[in-house]
Amino acid sequence: MSLFEMAKIPMEKASKLINLDPNAEAVISQPERTVEVSIPVKMDDGHVQVFTGYRSQNSTILGPGKGGVRYHQNVTLDEVKTLGFWMTTKCAVAGLPYGGAKGGVIVDPRKVSKTELEKITRGYIDKIAPLIGEKKDVPAPDMNTNAQIMAWMCDEFSKINCQYEPAFITGKAVSMGGSLGRNSATGRGVITATLEILKREGIKPEDATVAIQGFGNVGSWTAKIAKEKGLKIVALSDISGGIYDENGLDPYKVEAYAKEHEGLIKGYPGATAISGEAVLEQKVTVLIPAAMELQITAKNADKIQAKIIVEAANGPTDADADAILEKKGIPVVPDVLANGGGVTVSYFEWVQNLYRYFWTEEEVEERQEKMMVKAFANVYDAAKKYNTTLRVGAYIVALNALVEPMKLRGII
Ligand code: GLU
Repeated sequence: MSLFEMAKIPMEKASKLINLDPNAEAVISQPERTVEVSIPVKMDDGHVQVFTGYRSQNSTILGPGKGGVRYHQNVTLDEVKTLGFWMTTKCAVAGLPYGGAKGGVIVDPRKVSKTELEKITRGYIDKIAPLIGEKKDVPAPDMNTNAQIMAWMCDEFSKINCQYEPAFITGKAVSMGGSLGRNSATGRGVITATLEILKREGIKPEDATVAIQGFGNVGSWTAKIAKEKGLKIVALSDISGGIYDENGLDPYKVEAYAKEHEGLIKGYPGATAISGEAVLEQKVTVLIPAAMELQITAKNADKIQAKIIVEAANGPTDADADAILEKKGIPVVPDVLANGGGVTVSYFEWVQNLYRYFWTEEEVEERQEKMMVKAFANVYDAAKKYNTTLRVGAYIVALNALVEPMKLRGII
């Protein structure tokens, strides 16, 4: 089964529960448009390497396409289509006036120079330029892309259109029109979702222990905000492995240590070294996978000892694991709800760019919190009403938001 087929399972379940018009399901089940582009780049040594990129615009029913661009050596069209489908759901669940999209370039950014990375980035934008724009499709960062890459994209797109185009892309540096609070937004939202589920489960934050897989932008901010909110982090991991301390890890100190050690947490003093996989299997209150897709599968789902899972990564749990966790009674706050804080603040950035009027960090955080708490309640209530999982509940919310505009627009 492809990743895209697997991703549609909870939507199909939701669709049955709410007796969705099958025409609506048929439309949402396919991206509106996908493109594959070739990007020739003159490398530093003079030879030309042709890179492959994708953009999948899954839906523009509720607004322009929205979603990040991923740089990774294993990017596939199937993955990009799936991530775009999740963006459609995520934006609808968060109540944003956006559809869903995603992009990707097959490249290991650690294996190219900065000049080559800039050329790849500009070449990608040149090739997808006719399809993107503030009212068409708005890219953003995703795995291995950052504010510098967004700045090159913004510059290239502005050159092509002979005008300044800040609102065509989000996740920019504040000096480039980015929003305060965007860097920490996904992690902050993950913790908002965590506090909401703890409340529903009757667990006090100060009694909760947390394990986080992944210490990139999302994982590290999730850890830092978890600490600010009084949660005890006992296990962390990155590509170098895991660390465990039952007395609690200070993510700020771990981050400082990683900065001095090639960005890796391996060898962090005072903590017990464990394997990366073992971080998923600790006896904790909350497990937060914040790395990448397909980390919890039929192979390890039975070994999960956490009381609750909150998905900070996109698609960390596969369909088999989902069924096992449901049987075990472990609630999973799904990615399309839990990590929606990133795109929510991207939306704020876009609004601020369109108005050329900027908000304070407090305003951003306050509005983000309000939107996420509301989205959580909508999903939780839908799941309760239909006696289903939170993941299926999220698809119920998304489908309900999509179906009426589809009818009114005459699509179905
Ligand atoms: N890449 C992030 C995500 O998967 C953010 C997307 C955005 O801000 O548009 O949600």
